Amino acid sequence: MTARQDELVFVPLGGVGEIGMNAALYGFGPEKSRKWIMVDCGMGFAGEEGLPGIELMFPDLSFIEKRREDLLGIFITHAHEDHIGAIAELWPRLKAPVYATRFAKQLLETRRLAEPGAPKVVLKQITPGKRVTIGPFEIEYVPVAHSIPESNAIAIRTEHGLVLHTGDWKLDDTPVAGDITSPEAFRALGDEGIIALVCDSTNIVREGRSPSEAEVAANIKRLIEDAPHRVAVTTFASNVARIRAVAEAAQATGREVIAVGRAMDRVIDVARECGYLDGLPDFREANTYNHLPRDKVVCLLTGSQGEARAALARVSRRDHPAVTLADGDRVIFSSRAIPGNERDVGAIINDLIDMGVEVITDRTELVHVSGHPRRDEMVAMYAWTRPKAAIPVHGEALHLDEHARFARAQGVDTVVKARNGAVVRLAPGTPEIINHVPAGRLYKDANVLIDAKDRAVPERRKLAQAGIVSVAIAIDARGDVLGEPAIDIMGLPNQGRDGEPLIDTVAETVKRTLRTLSPGKRKDSEAVENAVDRAVRSAMNDVWGKKPACHVQVVEV
Ligand SMILES: [Zn+2]
Ligand SMILES: [Zn+2]
Repeated sequence: MTARQDELVFVPLGGVGEIGMNAALYGFGPEKSRKWIMVDCGMGFAGEEGLPGIELMFPDLSFIEKRREDLLGIFITHAHEDHIGAIAELWPRLKAPVYATRFAKQLLETRRLAEPGAPKVVLKQITPGKRVTIGPFEIEYVPVAHSIPESNAIAIRTEHGLVLHTGDWKLDDTPVAGDITSPEAFRALGDEGIIALVCDSTNIVREGRSPSEAEVAANIKRLIEDAPHRVAVTTFASNVARIRAVAEAAQATGREVIAVGRAMDRVIDVARECGYLDGLPDFREANTYNHLPRDKVVCLLTGSQGEARAALARVSRRDHPAVTLADGDRVIFSSRAIPGNERDVGAIINDLIDMGVEVITDRTELVHVSGHPRRDEMVAMYAWTRPKAAIPVHGEALHLDEHARFARAQGVDTVVKARNGAVVRLAPGTPEIINHVPAGRLYKDANVLIDAKDRAVPERRKLAQAGIVSVAIAIDARGDVLGEPAIDIMGLPNQGRDGEPLIDTVAETVKRTLRTLSPGKRKDSEAVENAVDRAVRSAMNDVWGKKPACHVQVVEV
C-alpha cells in the first residue's frame, strides 16, 4: 500500500472502553490529506470516577482540532447527552457544521437559547432516508428504536464501500414515540454489502430481548390507575415515549399532568413541536398543583438520577415551591440509576418513604426498560447486516470484549478490538489497527476545561485523603530564624496516636529541623523548605499513619 493511496479509516476518540463521551471519526484519502467526518460529540458524567469537584467529562478532540479545516461535518445520531453533550463546549474548537434530525437540532437550539454565552453552532437538518453527499462521503440516516425520538444508525458510503455505524438502538415494534428498527431497511443494507459494522455494545452481556416501551406504558397506566392519591413519575427528561405514556395514562384515568423541571419543560416543548405529543391535552402549570384534588393529578419530575438541584430531590427535602407529597402518595422511578448515582437516588427514596410515600422502582415492577439491544436483538442485527468486519463500540472493556466474542460467533470474519485513539483502516484490505493518535479526556472544572492530566484533580484527591499542613518561616540574611514559625493544619485529626495535638508535633518537628540545619543551609530557602517538608510528613506518618500534603513557605527578611 502506498502512502498516496486513498484509505477509509475509523478513529474513535471517545466512548470505546468507557461509558459516555461518544465521538468517532471517519477519514477518507491518503494518509497526509484525509477528509474527515465526526459521528457524535458527547460528554460523560464523572460521578463514578471519584474525581473531586468534577461532574462532567469530555473527549479530548485535539487530534481533529488540529485538522479542523478537513473536518467536513459532525453527524449526530441522536440527542442523548453522551452523543451531543460536548457540542456546546467543544464546537468552537471545531467549527464544522453539525448535522442532526429535527428533534435533536431543536433541542440543541432550545438549550443554546437558555444558556447565555453558548456558541452559535452551525446546525443543519437531516432527513432520515435521504442521502447527503459531503466530500468523499455519502451519508444516510437509518431510523432505529431507542429511548429518545429520532435515533438513527448512519450508513456511510465511500468509493471503498458501505460502513454502518449503528448508534444506540434496540428492537421495539411498539415504541410509543418515535421509530421502529426496520428489518427491511437493515436487510437491504446487508444486501448492498457492509464492509464494517460499528455497533452498540451496552447490553451485550444481557440475554434475551428487551421489553417494549408499550409494556412499560401499560404498567405505568395500571400503577397510575390504582393509585389512591397523587402520583409522581420521574424519568430521564429526554425519554419522550415515557412522557407520552404518563400523559396517556393520565388522560385515561381523568388526571391532569404537571411537568416540573427545566430539562423536562424543554424536551416537552420540542416534543410538542415535532408532533410526539399529538392528541394529548396541554400539561398544567406547576402552580395549579395545590388546587387539584389529590386523585386528579400526575406529576412528571426531573431528578431520576438523584440530582440535588432537580425537582424530585427538592420535593423529597420538602423545599419545592409548588409540589409537595404526603402520606399515601405514590412515586414511580421510571428510570435506572446510572452507576455512580445509586447512593444519591437511594437517599431520595429513603426520604420519600420516611414521608409515607409509596415508592415503586424497576426492581419490583416493569416501569423502565433500557434503550440498548440485548443478545437476541444483536443476533437479529448481525443476521440482517451480515458485515465483513465488526468493531464493537459504546461500552467498557467488558462489553467490548463480550461483543467481539459474540461477533465471531455470528460468523463475522474480522473483529477489530479498537480503543479510543486507534486508527482502524477499514479499506482497502482487511480492517485492522494501523496506528494510534492522541485521545483522552477533558474535565469541566466549574467554568474551566482542564486536561485529565492536569495536577488539580490528583492534588485534590490527595488533600481529601490526608489534608494539608502549612508552615511559614521567617529567616534573615544571616540565616537566623525570626520569631515562631506560623503553622496551620487542615483536614488532619486533632491528636496523634500518642495523644499529642498534631499541631504541637508539627511545631516541634519544624523547630528541631531548623536547629539541625547550619546557618549557611538556612539561607537557602529551597533547602529549608525541602527539609521541613520531609520532616513534617515523616513525623505525621509516625504519629498518625498518613503523610499529609505539606506547604512550606520561607520568607526572607
Ligand atoms: Zn442513547
Ligand atoms: Zn449512548
